[in-house]
Amino acid sequence: MAVNKNNVKIHVSHLKKNFGNLEVLKDVSADICEGEVVVILGPSGSGKSTFLRCLNRLEDITGGEVIVDGHDLTDKKTNINKVRENVGMVFQHFNLFNNLNVLGNMMLAPTELKKATKAQAKENALRLLTRVGLADKAEAYPAQLSGGQKQRVAIARALAMNPDIMLFDEPTSALDPEMVGEVLQVMKQLASEGMTMVVVTHEIGFAREVASRVIFMEGGYIVEEGTPDEVINHPQQPRTIDFLSKVL
Ligand code: ADP
Ligand code: MG
Repeated sequence: MAVNKNNVKIHVSHLKKNFGNLEVLKDVSADICEGEVVVILGPSGSGKSTFLRCLNRLEDITGGEVIVDGHDLTDKKTNINKVRENVGMVFQHFNLFNNLNVLGNMMLAPTELKKATKAQAKENALRLLTRVGLADKAEAYPAQLSGGQKQRVAIARALAMNPDIMLFDEPTSALDPEMVGEVLQVMKQLASEGMTMVVVTHEIGFAREVASRVIFMEGGYIVEEGTPDEVINHPQQPRTIDFLSKVL
């Protein structure tokens, strides 16, 4: 699917994020266009999760500018809930509601926030479950699912809001190795359909194959970015080279 350079979905300019005295994001700028799959690599503690969380204002922004789908997230007048409806997020630990079955998890936000009818939400949920290969798990509770199945439900649940943008924070890091592939496969499919995606992952193979761009972060800065071939196969910065030598 082609990247549409004329449509910047996420504009980040000189983003800063502090937690108290701790400067976590020091000066991060990036434009992410429609249809791009941006993979963020970097060592633990470099600010990758904080960066993602700033993109839907799960964190308050200390300085700089974040504009998502034309909405300025630093503007107090922006209706952040409306923006979030368009930005799906998938977490390392799935964050499913354990007291609800799969359909319940998937129907909650569309019925509560988008005022979908139960029938519409259910039909949509079943369609999405089919897409992630879990149509037979509609009535199951999270405790009855494997990690890979839970994460596929979490992705389907995010898609149920019909987002324009999907953010993934280490979606396969909590999975047993044999389940990583089934989740990456769903993400790959989504990418091929043109979804704009920002993915924090240590899956270098996924980055090589699927990313339109790779960003390497360290110490609250973007140290290096480029195509997967540039950043992964021909890194220029010593810190990128060092990181890749540890994970490859
Ligand atoms: P990464 O995802 O790259 O591992 P994070 O964005 O989670 O990094 O964290 C970057 C730094 O910010 C770490 O030093 C972490 O301890 C700190 N940090 C993250 N969230 C908070 C928070 N809510 N309060 C205080 N410090 C935080
Ligand atoms: Mg993280």
